[in-house]
Amino acid sequence: MSRPLLFLDVDGPFNPYAARPERRPAGYTTIRVPGFSRRPLRVWLNPDHGPALLRLGYDLCWATTWMAEANVWIAPVVGLPGLPYVDFGTGLFAERPDGVHWKTEAIVAYADGRPFAWVDDEQSAADTAYVRAHHPGPALLHHVDPRTGLRESDLRTLAEFAADVSA
Ligand SMILES: [Mg+2]
Repeated sequence: MSRPLLFLDVDGPFNPYAARPERRPAGYTTIRVPGFSRRPLRVWLNPDHGPALLRLGYDLCWATTWMAEANVWIAPVVGLPGLPYVDFGTGLFAERPDGVHWKTEAIVAYADGRPFAWVDDEQSAADTAYVRAHHPGPALLHHVDPRTGLRESDLRTLAEFAADVSA
């Protein structure tokens, strides 16, 4: 059986943007990305995250507003190879009247029935309902706290899901 997909948001899971701004969390490094506004965007990243994710038994895929830029700015710092990414196209940031996140439909379409987990800091019950209705296989929508980024407990949950669906 093929491995499940793991869709990766950047801001929240990798970059704990909601952490106290005056104190960089232990284990994180800082990059500054130009081109967002007058000032470069400060991003905190943890070089341990990539190797840990690669061990979990998934095929990894970006599901982030960074899209292709995630391979330029994020992947090398967190220790990931270049990854495929979900191209949100005109759906990027497009709010829906039903409250489903603008990423969800594209993620379900990309998965095309394959089991998947999705780590993000913005999923809601509407997304769970949408996935149940439109995705025939197993799916795990896993919320990551943007104050902390990915933690050991998140990685354990992801590893258990991968083991379950691969069994
Ligand atoms: Mg996010």
